[in-house]
Amino acid sequence: MHSSDVERFYSHVLKGPDPDSCWLWLGAISDDGYGRFWLPTAGGQRAVAAHRFALATIHGGLTAIEGLTALHWCDVPLCVRASLDPSTHLLLGTRSENMADRAMKGRMPSATAARWRRLSKVERSTRSRQLREELKTHGWDEDVVRELVHGIDPDHPTLF
Ligand SMILES: [Zn+2]
Repeated sequence: MHSSDVERFYSHVLKGPDPDSCWLWLGAISDDGYGRFWLPTAGGQRAVAAHRFALATIHGGLTAIEGLTALHWCDVPLCVRASLDPSTHLLLGTRSENMADRAMKGRMPSATAARWRRLSKVERSTRSRQLREELKTHGWDEDVVRELVHGIDPDHPTLF
């Protein structure tokens, strides 16, 4: 992994003000609402999911995490706060851990997780883009972030 890519990656990340805040991606956003990061290759460039790249930075590169799933513990698609500590924001798991994680959340879903999950792909990417634009325009405003991240009401997706 090139340190210049890692530096460029984190130049698109806004870290929240609290020790346990999300770190949110402000770069390109895919149609599924997740961040997208472009990496130069020999023949041009290729897209990598931003949260996967974040995991790769602490797990020894993209090849090292190939085939392994990302566990988005905080359930915020734009969050790229990769960690080695369990139960934080973004973790690397195996396929079976991912299923266990899902089953566990199925029993105890967080309100945020449940709401993000009920959104369609389009609604999720719209929501992610709104969040990114707010952060880019006004910086981290805790009220706005809370509204956009946690204030999701799938029955009124156009409320905000
Ligand atoms: Zn997070």
